[in-house]
Amino acid sequence: MSFEGKSAIVTGGASGLGAEIARRLGAAGAAVVVADLNESQAAGVVDEIRSGGGRAIPVAADVSDEEQVARMTSAAVEAFGSVDVLVTSAGIGIQKPFVETSLDEWNRILAVNLTGAFLCGRYAALEMMRRGGGRIVNIASGAGIRGVPGRAPYGASKGGLITLTKVMAAELGPHGITVNAVAPGPVETALTMRMHTAETRSAYVGAIPLGRYGRPEEIAAAVLFLASDGASFITGHTVEVDGGMMSSGPLFKV
Ligand code: NAD
Repeated sequence: MSFEGKSAIVTGGASGLGAEIARRLGAAGAAVVVADLNESQAAGVVDEIRSGGGRAIPVAADVSDEEQVARMTSAAVEAFGSVDVLVTSAGIGIQKPFVETSLDEWNRILAVNLTGAFLCGRYAALEMMRRGGGRIVNIASGAGIRGVPGRAPYGASKGGLITLTKVMAAELGPHGITVNAVAPGPVETALTMRMHTAETRSAYVGAIPLGRYGRPEEIAAAVLFLASDGASFITGHTVEVDGGMMSSGPLFKV
Protein backbone atom coordinates (compact mmCIF):
# COMPACT_ATOMS: atom_id res chain seq x y z
CA MET A 1 0.00 0.00 0.00
CA SER A 2 1.69 3.20 -1.12
CA PHE A 3 0.92 6.73 0.03
CA GLU A 4 3.69 8.33 -2.09
CA GLY A 5 2.73 11.88 -3.04
CA LYS A 6 -0.02 12.04 -0.38
CA SER A 7 -0.13 14.17 2.72
CA ALA A 8 -1.82 13.12 5.96
CA ILE A 9 -2.80 14.75 9.24
CA VAL A 10 -2.98 12.40 12.23
CA THR A 11 -4.46 13.99 15.36
CA GLY A 12 -3.42 12.43 18.65
CA GLY A 13 -0.37 11.35 16.66
CA ALA A 14 2.01 11.56 19.62
CA SER A 15 0.83 8.43 21.41
CA GLY A 16 -0.80 5.02 21.15
CA LEU A 17 -2.92 4.33 18.09
CA GLY A 18 -2.28 7.73 16.49
CA ALA A 19 1.50 7.33 16.80
CA GLU A 20 1.39 3.89 15.20
CA ILE A 21 -0.87 5.17 12.39
CA ALA A 22 1.48 8.13 11.79
CA ARG A 23 4.56 5.87 11.71
CA ARG A 24 2.91 3.47 9.24
CA LEU A 25 1.64 6.25 6.96
CA GLY A 26 5.15 7.78 7.01
CA ALA A 27 6.77 4.43 6.21
CA ALA A 28 4.31 4.00 3.31
CA GLY A 29 5.42 7.29 1.74
CA ALA A 30 2.90 9.84 3.08
CA ALA A 31 4.13 13.22 4.31
CA VAL A 32 2.68 13.26 7.82
CA VAL A 33 1.55 16.05 10.12
CA VAL A 34 1.79 14.60 13.63
CA ALA A 35 -0.68 16.80 15.51
CA ASP A 36 -1.11 16.60 19.26
CA LEU A 37 -1.46 18.58 22.48
CA ASN A 38 1.87 17.07 23.49
CA GLU A 39 4.32 18.68 21.09
CA SER A 40 7.50 17.09 22.45
CA GLN A 41 6.07 13.59 22.16
CA ALA A 42 4.79 14.45 18.65
CA ALA A 43 8.34 15.54 17.77
CA GLY A 44 9.58 12.12 18.92
CA VAL A 45 7.23 10.37 16.47
CA VAL A 46 8.36 12.76 13.73
CA ASP A 47 12.01 11.84 14.45
CA GLU A 48 11.14 8.14 14.11
CA ILE A 49 9.42 8.75 10.74
CA ARG A 50 12.34 10.86 9.48
CA SER A 51 14.93 8.35 10.63
CA GLY A 52 13.13 5.75 8.48
CA GLY A 53 13.50 8.08 5.47
CA GLY A 54 9.97 9.55 5.67
CA ARG A 55 8.68 13.12 5.73
CA ALA A 56 6.86 14.53 8.77
CA ILE A 57 6.37 17.64 10.91
CA PRO A 58 5.02 18.01 14.44
CA VAL A 59 2.19 20.49 15.06
CA ALA A 60 0.96 21.47 18.52
CA ALA A 61 -2.83 21.67 18.43
CA ASP A 62 -5.79 21.24 20.74
CA VAL A 63 -8.43 19.69 18.48
CA SER A 64 -11.26 21.25 20.53
CA ASP A 65 -10.05 24.77 19.68
CA GLU A 66 -11.17 26.04 16.26
CA GLU A 67 -8.32 28.51 15.80
CA GLN A 68 -5.73 25.83 16.55
CA VAL A 69 -7.41 23.39 14.14
CA ALA A 70 -7.40 26.06 11.42
CA ARG A 71 -3.67 26.66 12.07
CA MET A 72 -2.93 22.92 12.03
CA THR A 73 -4.67 22.54 8.65
CA SER A 74 -2.82 25.54 7.19
CA ALA A 75 0.48 24.16 8.49
CA ALA A 76 -0.18 20.91 6.60
CA VAL A 77 -0.94 22.77 3.36
CA GLU A 78 2.09 25.06 3.75
CA ALA A 79 4.45 22.16 4.45
CA PHE A 80 3.14 19.56 2.01
CA GLY A 81 0.76 21.34 -0.41
CA SER A 82 -2.46 19.46 0.41
CA VAL A 83 -4.43 17.41 2.90
CA ASP A 84 -5.23 14.06 1.28
CA VAL A 85 -5.82 12.00 4.43
CA LEU A 86 -7.14 12.94 7.89
CA VAL A 87 -7.11 10.48 10.78
CA THR A 88 -8.75 11.73 13.99
CA SER A 89 -7.22 9.75 16.83
CA ALA A 90 -7.04 12.48 19.51
CA GLY A 91 -9.24 11.28 22.33
CA ILE A 92 -9.69 11.19 26.09
CA GLY A 93 -11.84 9.19 28.46
CA ILE A 94 -12.73 8.35 32.02
CA GLN A 95 -14.29 5.35 33.68
CA LYS A 96 -16.85 6.60 36.21
CA PRO A 97 -20.49 5.95 37.13
CA PHE A 98 -22.90 8.10 35.15
CA VAL A 99 -24.36 9.68 38.30
CA GLU A 100 -20.88 10.73 39.50
CA THR A 101 -19.83 12.26 36.18
CA SER A 102 -19.54 16.03 36.44
CA LEU A 103 -20.69 18.48 33.79
CA ASP A 104 -17.06 19.57 33.30
CA GLU A 105 -15.99 15.97 32.61
CA TRP A 106 -18.90 15.51 30.20
CA ASN A 107 -18.17 18.76 28.36
CA ARG A 108 -14.42 18.17 28.03
CA ILE A 109 -14.77 14.62 26.67
CA LEU A 110 -17.43 15.68 24.16
CA ALA A 111 -15.30 18.70 23.19
CA VAL A 112 -12.21 16.62 22.40
CA ASN A 113 -13.68 13.39 21.03
CA LEU A 114 -16.68 14.69 19.09
CA THR A 115 -16.32 18.44 18.53
CA GLY A 116 -12.60 17.89 17.84
CA ALA A 117 -13.38 15.42 15.05
CA PHE A 118 -16.06 17.78 13.70
CA LEU A 119 -13.61 20.71 13.55
CA CYS A 120 -10.71 18.72 12.10
CA GLY A 121 -13.05 17.05 9.59
CA ARG A 122 -14.55 20.36 8.53
CA TYR A 123 -11.24 22.13 7.91
CA ALA A 124 -9.68 19.10 6.20
CA ALA A 125 -12.77 18.55 4.03
CA LEU A 126 -12.63 22.14 2.78
CA GLU A 127 -9.03 21.49 1.61
CA MET A 128 -9.96 18.12 0.12
CA MET A 129 -12.92 19.66 -1.76
CA ARG A 130 -10.54 22.13 -3.39
CA ARG A 131 -8.40 19.20 -4.59
CA GLY A 132 -11.32 16.98 -5.63
CA GLY A 133 -10.94 14.15 -3.12
CA GLY A 134 -9.59 12.71 0.07
CA ARG A 135 -9.94 10.17 2.85
CA ILE A 136 -11.11 10.76 6.41
CA VAL A 137 -10.90 8.03 9.06
CA ASN A 138 -12.36 8.74 12.50
CA ILE A 139 -11.24 6.62 15.44
CA ALA A 140 -14.45 5.70 17.27
CA SER A 141 -14.78 2.85 19.79
CA GLY A 142 -16.86 -0.20 20.61
CA ALA A 143 -18.06 1.94 23.53
CA GLY A 144 -19.83 4.09 20.91
CA ILE A 145 -21.88 1.07 19.83
CA ARG A 146 -22.64 -0.73 23.10
CA GLY A 147 -23.62 0.69 26.50
CA VAL A 148 -20.36 0.07 28.35
CA PRO A 149 -20.65 0.81 32.12
CA GLY A 150 -18.68 3.88 33.23
CA ARG A 151 -18.49 5.38 29.76
CA ALA A 152 -21.36 7.90 29.62
CA PRO A 153 -19.50 10.84 28.06
CA TYR A 154 -16.94 8.66 26.28
CA GLY A 155 -19.54 6.31 24.77
CA ALA A 156 -21.83 9.20 23.83
CA SER A 157 -18.94 11.00 22.13
CA LYS A 158 -18.00 7.90 20.13
CA GLY A 159 -21.62 7.09 19.23
CA GLY A 160 -21.96 10.67 18.02
CA LEU A 161 -18.75 10.27 16.04
CA ILE A 162 -20.12 7.19 14.26
CA THR A 163 -23.22 9.16 13.22
CA LEU A 164 -21.11 12.17 12.24
CA THR A 165 -19.04 9.83 10.04
CA LYS A 166 -22.19 8.74 8.20
CA VAL A 167 -23.44 12.30 7.68
CA MET A 168 -20.04 13.44 6.43
CA ALA A 169 -19.87 10.45 4.07
CA ALA A 170 -23.28 11.33 2.61
CA GLU A 171 -22.37 14.99 2.08
CA LEU A 172 -18.77 14.61 0.98
CA GLY A 173 -19.21 11.64 -1.39
CA PRO A 174 -20.00 13.89 -4.36
CA HIS A 175 -16.63 15.59 -3.74
CA GLY A 176 -14.70 12.33 -3.98
CA ILE A 177 -14.09 12.22 -0.23
CA THR A 178 -14.70 9.00 1.69
CA VAL A 179 -15.37 9.11 5.43
CA ASN A 180 -15.19 5.99 7.57
CA ALA A 181 -14.69 5.08 11.21
CA VAL A 182 -12.72 2.37 12.94
CA ALA A 183 -14.16 1.13 16.24
CA PRO A 184 -11.33 -0.54 18.15
CA GLY A 185 -11.91 -2.90 21.01
CA PRO A 186 -9.49 -2.62 23.93
CA VAL A 187 -5.88 -2.07 22.88
CA GLU A 188 -2.79 -1.67 25.07
CA THR A 189 -2.00 2.07 25.02
CA ALA A 190 -1.44 4.88 27.54
CA LEU A 191 -5.22 5.50 27.51
CA THR A 192 -6.19 1.97 28.59
CA MET A 193 -3.35 1.86 31.14
CA ARG A 194 -5.07 4.85 32.78
CA MET A 195 -8.72 3.88 32.24
CA HIS A 196 -8.86 0.10 32.71
CA THR A 197 -8.83 -1.45 36.17
CA ALA A 198 -7.80 -5.11 36.64
CA GLU A 199 -11.51 -5.98 36.81
CA THR A 200 -12.23 -4.14 33.55
CA ARG A 201 -9.36 -5.97 31.88
CA SER A 202 -10.48 -9.43 32.84
CA ALA A 203 -14.11 -8.66 31.85
CA TYR A 204 -12.91 -7.50 28.42
CA VAL A 205 -10.61 -10.47 27.83
CA GLY A 206 -13.47 -12.82 28.76
CA ALA A 207 -15.72 -11.14 26.17
CA ILE A 208 -13.26 -11.23 23.26
CA PRO A 209 -13.31 -14.42 21.13
CA LEU A 210 -9.61 -13.94 20.33
CA GLY A 211 -9.01 -13.79 24.10
CA ARG A 212 -6.69 -10.77 24.33
CA TYR A 213 -6.31 -7.02 23.96
CA GLY A 214 -5.45 -5.75 20.49
CA ARG A 215 -2.13 -4.25 19.44
CA PRO A 216 -1.82 -0.73 17.98
CA GLU A 217 -0.51 -2.13 14.67
CA GLU A 218 -3.71 -4.20 14.29
CA ILE A 219 -5.81 -1.02 14.44
CA ALA A 220 -3.38 0.88 12.20
CA ALA A 221 -3.65 -1.82 9.50
CA ALA A 222 -7.41 -1.22 9.17
CA VAL A 223 -6.98 2.56 9.21
CA LEU A 224 -4.34 2.46 6.47
CA PHE A 225 -6.59 0.31 4.30
CA LEU A 226 -9.52 2.75 4.67
CA ALA A 227 -7.14 5.64 3.87
CA SER A 228 -5.77 3.89 0.78
CA ASP A 229 -6.80 3.94 -2.89
CA GLY A 230 -8.03 0.35 -2.46
CA ALA A 231 -10.90 1.52 -0.23
CA SER A 232 -12.29 3.82 -2.96
CA PHE A 233 -15.90 2.46 -2.76
CA ILE A 234 -16.17 2.17 1.04
CA THR A 235 -17.70 5.14 2.81
CA GLY A 236 -19.92 5.80 5.83
CA HIS A 237 -18.80 2.49 7.32
CA THR A 238 -17.63 1.68 10.84
CA VAL A 239 -15.11 -1.17 10.94
CA GLU A 240 -14.99 -3.01 14.26
CA VAL A 241 -11.40 -4.10 14.97
CA ASP A 242 -11.92 -5.85 18.27
CA GLY A 243 -11.08 -9.54 18.16
CA GLY A 244 -14.76 -10.35 17.59
CA MET A 245 -16.09 -8.64 20.73
CA MET A 246 -19.00 -6.78 19.09
CA SER A 247 -20.14 -9.72 17.02
CA SER A 248 -20.50 -12.14 19.94
CA GLY A 249 -22.48 -12.38 23.16
CA PRO A 250 -21.56 -14.20 26.40
CA LEU A 251 -18.72 -16.63 25.63
CA PHE A 252 -19.95 -19.80 27.35
CA LYS A 253 -18.38 -23.14 26.45
CA VAL A 254 -20.27 -25.39 24.01
P1 NAD B 1 -3.46 7.73 23.96
O1 NAD B 1 -3.80 8.39 25.25
O2 NAD B 1 -2.29 6.81 23.89
O3 NAD B 1 -3.29 8.82 22.80
C1 NAD B 1 -4.21 9.88 22.64
C2 NAD B 1 -3.45 11.11 22.16
O4 NAD B 1 -4.40 12.16 21.98
C3 NAD B 1 -2.40 11.61 23.18
O5 NAD B 1 -1.16 11.81 22.54
C4 NAD B 1 -2.98 12.93 23.66
O6 NAD B 1 -1.98 13.91 23.98
C5 NAD B 1 -3.80 13.35 22.45
N1 NAD B 1 -4.84 14.32 22.80
C6 NAD B 1 -5.68 14.28 23.88
N2 NAD B 1 -6.45 15.38 23.88
C7 NAD B 1 -6.11 16.11 22.79
C8 NAD B 1 -6.56 17.34 22.26
N3 NAD B 1 -7.52 18.07 22.86
N4 NAD B 1 -5.98 17.80 21.12
C9 NAD B 1 -4.99 17.10 20.52
N5 NAD B 1 -4.52 15.93 20.99
C10 NAD B 1 -5.07 15.44 22.12
O7 NAD B 1 -4.81 6.96 23.52
P2 NAD B 1 -5.06 5.83 22.41
O8 NAD B 1 -5.40 4.59 23.13
O9 NAD B 1 -4.02 5.85 21.38
O10 NAD B 1 -6.42 6.38 21.81
C11 NAD B 1 -6.49 6.95 20.50
C12 NAD B 1 -7.94 6.99 20.06
O11 NAD B 1 -8.44 5.66 19.99
C13 NAD B 1 -8.85 7.74 21.03
O12 NAD B 1 -9.79 8.48 20.29
C14 NAD B 1 -9.54 6.64 21.80
O13 NAD B 1 -10.78 7.02 22.28
C15 NAD B 1 -9.65 5.57 20.72
N6 NAD B 1 -9.79 4.21 21.24
C16 NAD B 1 -8.79 3.62 21.95
C17 NAD B 1 -8.96 2.34 22.41
C18 NAD B 1 -7.90 1.63 23.20
O14 NAD B 1 -8.19 0.54 23.73
N7 NAD B 1 -6.69 2.15 23.32
C19 NAD B 1 -10.16 1.64 22.17
C20 NAD B 1 -11.14 2.27 21.43
C21 NAD B 1 -10.94 3.56 20.96
